[in-house]
Amino acid sequence: MATPRFLPHNRLDDLIRQLQAAGYRVIGPRLQEGVIAYGELAAATELPWGWQDEQTPGRYRLQRTGQPLAFAWATPTQGLKPWFFAPVEPLWRMRRTSDGFELAACLPQEKPLAILGARACDLAAVARQDAILEHDPHYQARRQDALFIAVHCTRPAASCFCASTGTGPRAMRFDIGLTELDTGFVVEAGSPRGRGLIEPLALAAASAEQLATAQKAVAAAALRQTRHLPPGDLAARLAAHSEHPHWAEVAQRCLACGNCTQACPTCFCHARSETASADDQTAEQARHWDSCFGELHGHLAGFQVRPETAQRYRQWLTHKLGNWWTQFGESGCVGCGRCLTWCPAGIDLTQEVAAILGEAA
Ligand code: SF4
Ligand code: SF4
Repeated sequence: MATPRFLPHNRLDDLIRQLQAAGYRVIGPRLQEGVIAYGELAAATELPWGWQDEQTPGRYRLQRTGQPLAFAWATPTQGLKPWFFAPVEPLWRMRRTSDGFELAACLPQEKPLAILGARACDLAAVARQDAILEHDPHYQARRQDALFIAVHCTRPAASCFCASTGTGPRAMRFDIGLTELDTGFVVEAGSPRGRGLIEPLALAAASAEQLATAQKAVAAAALRQTRHLPPGDLAARLAAHSEHPHWAEVAQRCLACGNCTQACPTCFCHARSETASADDQTAEQARHWDSCFGELHGHLAGFQVRPETAQRYRQWLTHKLGNWWTQFGESGCVGCGRCLTWCPAGIDLTQEVAAILGEAA
């Protein structure tokens, strides 16, 4: 690993221009409709300078900090999922011809993405989706050349618990890693591509003091997290509590709206639908995100396998925290806290799993 460098705040645009010149479409956090969300970034001025987020179960607010920092917030509303696994997209189109029909795949033809400000939890979620969607051509078309500029978290929200899932606050996999200090960033190269983009910037080496401050800030972010997941073999522990009365208690509050699954950066359930033109000459199949909280999702062989909300909540939580281990060898939860924040009923999976397992949250 090359020596870490220091990028002053006023040279962040040099990095953005470097990415644009290399052919990337630069995506980064922006203030949009009262939230911080990823969007296309033309210049560093579009970053959420001087803002931080307050996130607790069922609540999201932005506050001004008065500090000239671009990344003093925790997580954007959505992770990176929609940028690679589109919420809705056509898979193929068909056209009737004189001797039959023509079928054409609708593979995305887009510039490679450079994600500036990727959080550790979201990069861990991308790694989980990489494993699940490894053979999905639509996902791979967007994902294969993507470049990640991580910004290690120094200010978690109250909803965050990535330290307990082992997925943050320091990102583990990136092309370029940044830690924000008062006047700029400690910069690390995490891949040959990242190094190739940093080198032309001719940045000075980060000082020993800057490196120590960066390290302390990320370590302190882990210590500030108050939520956690229970330890141990959650697949086995949850299976042993499949009939616990707390599932029915959560169902009294759960609206089965599916917000948690839509905001979760690892959820991958989807459905397909076909439409045909009125003249019967063309047809299209599209894929869209689905949710295990939806009625149709559990409709199988003519009947509903999970008619009750309690069963759907149990399906979601036990898959995410338990059966994901059996299927993929790791947890389906990266501790981003979005399912807490964006649940209209303020349901907190860290508290619910603790109640089900008889532990203190
Ligand atoms: S289950 Fe909740 S906290 Fe875990 S990754 Fe999904 S949205 Fe984030
Ligand atoms: S847990 Fe919350 S977000 Fe998820 S389906 Fe129930 S009410 Fe909606």
